[in-house]
Amino acid sequence: MRHLLTLEDLDRTTITRLLDRAEHYRHDGAPRGLLSGRTVLTLFFEPSTRTRTSFVLAAKRLGADNVNFDLSHSSTVKGESLLDTLHTLEAMQLDALVVRHNENGMPKYLADHANTGVAIVNAGDGTHAHPTQGLLDALTIRQRRPDFENLRVTICGDIRHSRVARSDAQALHTLGVRDIRLCAPRAMLPETLHELPGCATSEDFDTALEGADVVVMLRIQKERMADAQLPDATDYHAHYGLDARRLARAAKDCQVLHPGPINRGIEIAPEVADGPQSRILDQVANGVVTRMAVLAELLTQPA
Ligand code: ASP
Repeated sequence: MRHLLTLEDLDRTTITRLLDRAEHYRHDGAPRGLLSGRTVLTLFFEPSTRTRTSFVLAAKRLGADNVNFDLSHSSTVKGESLLDTLHTLEAMQLDALVVRHNENGMPKYLADHANTGVAIVNAGDGTHAHPTQGLLDALTIRQRRPDFENLRVTICGDIRHSRVARSDAQALHTLGVRDIRLCAPRAMLPETLHELPGCATSEDFDTALEGADVVVMLRIQKERMADAQLPDATDYHAHYGLDARRLARAAKDCQVLHPGPINRGIEIAPEVADGPQSRILDQVANGVVTRMAVLAELLTQPA
């Protein structure tokens, strides 16, 4: 692994190794100073709360230097191209560049042009992929249910515009899940994802929840839609909001995940977000160790 751009090309052994490493860090911490003398730069062209903070913490907990690139005060606002920015940063002896961008494929473009020795990590590109989220969601699920082959997983919300849905489905499929139900109103159903073996689409949330062991709720990606496409919030909640009454249709110990930020009262009711089946804060905690595992994997392997 030289870069982490998508989960599509990672096999089950590699994903399992990353999850094992993350779990190990969660229990025992990382070896002291594992990445000391290395530099990790975070470059976010879209807003972020959890992902950016957890990458910063991950780099620090591994002993690396972290530089948070402040876009509003950088020369990109003066028109510097992304490639010129990349080469400028590389000249400062960069080891890893963690990048989030609203354009699909931008991390790959940077990876194609990066110097050998610089690892590019995709922290979310457009509607395409969010690989570390896919890994941390798989880790969260595995902590309670390691038997991926038996799991029924429902992913509900704006799947069409969700890079999380794509990476979650990829990770779970590779790990052996055979029943993945993608549920959304027609306008938010995916154009391609249902081609993944084991994935089925549906517009009826009540049916899609029947017996589910895991439900992943997603936010409506307003920033990727025209205002006219946005559904009415009350109507959306009535059909696609997860409340306690609906959750009762799923398996008794069904785990509820949400990558955040959550919109209470739209895709998820507070009683569920804060309820006993919610794994949302576990996802956040797992985010840090998963990102540590990814940085350690990329920056400690033999050249
Ligand atoms: N934080 C996740 C992402 O960046 C999910 C979301 O924003 O809805 O894709």
